[in-house]
Amino acid sequence: MKSTPSIYLDNHATTRVDPRVVETMLPIFDLDYANAGSVTHAMGQRCSDLVESARNTIASYLGAANSSEIVFTSGATESNNLALRGFCQRIGSGHIISVQTEHQSVLATLAKLENAGFSITRLPVRQYGTVNSGIIEIDQLVDALRPDTILISVMLANNEIGAIHPVAQIREALNGRGIAIHCDATQAVGKMKVDVDKLGVDLLSMTAHKIHGPKGIGALYIRSQGRRVRLSSQIDGGSQEKGLRGGTQNVPGIVGFAAAVELCRELMTVESQRITALRNRLFTKLSGKIGPILLNGPVLDDGSLRLAHNLNCQFPGLDGHSLMVGTSQLALSSGSACTATSTEPSHVLTALGLDRDQVRSSLRFGLSRFTTEQEIDLAVDLLAESAVRLRKLGRSSIA
Ligand code: PMP
Repeated sequence: MKSTPSIYLDNHATTRVDPRVVETMLPIFDLDYANAGSVTHAMGQRCSDLVESARNTIASYLGAANSSEIVFTSGATESNNLALRGFCQRIGSGHIISVQTEHQSVLATLAKLENAGFSITRLPVRQYGTVNSGIIEIDQLVDALRPDTILISVMLANNEIGAIHPVAQIREALNGRGIAIHCDATQAVGKMKVDVDKLGVDLLSMTAHKIHGPKGIGALYIRSQGRRVRLSSQIDGGSQEKGLRGGTQNVPGIVGFAAAVELCRELMTVESQRITALRNRLFTKLSGKIGPILLNGPVLDDGSLRLAHNLNCQFPGLDGHSLMVGTSQLALSSGSACTATSTEPSHVLTALGLDRDQVRSSLRFGLSRFTTEQEIDLAVDLLAESAVRLRKLGRSSIA
């Protein structure tokens, strides 16, 4: 077995479960382990109560009108599938607007919907070199609207470049048109305020494992008041989750998810200041020790445009992958974990206008609650040593 990397900077892919979250989950494995549907006995009733209390916590974090607007899923991939397929299948036909830099679980689902006869517009984003690169132009979205537009699917924060989309402004730009908005808020939840009314969204996807919660549990917010949204179920079975998602509820996961959300809510303001400072330190030190590096995505000094936890940059003349694998103590990635086995260059960096070499010279850094200043400094030293080795070996230029 490989030894554990000592510096974990791959927090967009997943996060360490917070020990306080683990504490809340443990009793559900050996004390309250009943099926939450078995309300005929006390243990089952307790489990059902735990699920409903968790639903309340998550609804309250999102500013949802009612806890019944939260449906638990296995993660954001399933939430995105349920939102997009469930919504479109119910309506039957129409036009959907989305963005080129969405997560694969949105893009792949949209491609299937396109094959099924839906019409899809994939908006470009502002390109590399502009102040808020990676973010869509609202005017382009408005121009793309059609009389048969039924849905807009825009992520809140991007998982590769941390770009934050102006979702509330998109709702405003719709000028009262009742078009539904789906938002993949997987990377934003727990790291910034996410309020479904302020954002004006009708469907919102999230997952626990990006916020120091367990893997295999997520949720979809489905607006039930005002612009009420109806979905076709995608997993048929029992009547769990209002029949939208059959299957025995993952009680430990659900409880851990709510605990993770609660902790984020409590710590968010302080954490985001600390993490911004660490992220900026990382960028400055990398530039100082490795030579000029180039930022991918929005500027670092505007928290409304970019997640505090994210850094993505190019190391000109160096191969990002070689740089990374030369530092086995570091857990890093060059892009999304969901497409890590693909040989295609990152679709997000490509949408920014980067060429193949620029994409190959890029690395993504994801910081978290557990990242320390010492780790940042050590990570920079390790990468700088790796860069020197690569340059000496003459493998600096990209093949
Ligand atoms: N959307 C985004 C933006 C993500 O970053 C991810 C995880 N990489 C997902 C969706 C999928 O989440 P999950 O792993 O919970 O299926």
